Amino acid sequence: MEPTIKSGASPADENERPKDDEKILELDQRELMRHTWGTFINHPPSIAAGGKGTVVPGCEYCKTIIYSDNQFLSHLAVDVLPQIVQRILRMSKE
Ligand SMILES: [Zn+2]
Repeated sequence: MEPTIKSGASPADENERPKDDEKILELDQRELMRHTWGTFINHPPSIAAGGKGTVVPGCEYCKTIIYSDNQFLSHLAVDVLPQIVQRILRMSKE
């Protein structure tokens, strides 16, 4: 039986496409996971180390002060997601 090839797509394209999508998804997930809600020193060094910095809650990656899970979700939606979407759109145009 001969392999069926859809018009406009070679078998190679069909094999490579999901791998690219997986790679893009993996990169985006890694980017998203960098933003963890924890604590950080707001103006290092800390008081304990002789400075004036205090421990505050927030995004450990961006050093943005965040007090609630709603604020953290807003940070992801407003600050992080647009960067990820823009990168995906840029990559799809290449
Ligand atoms: Zn962040």
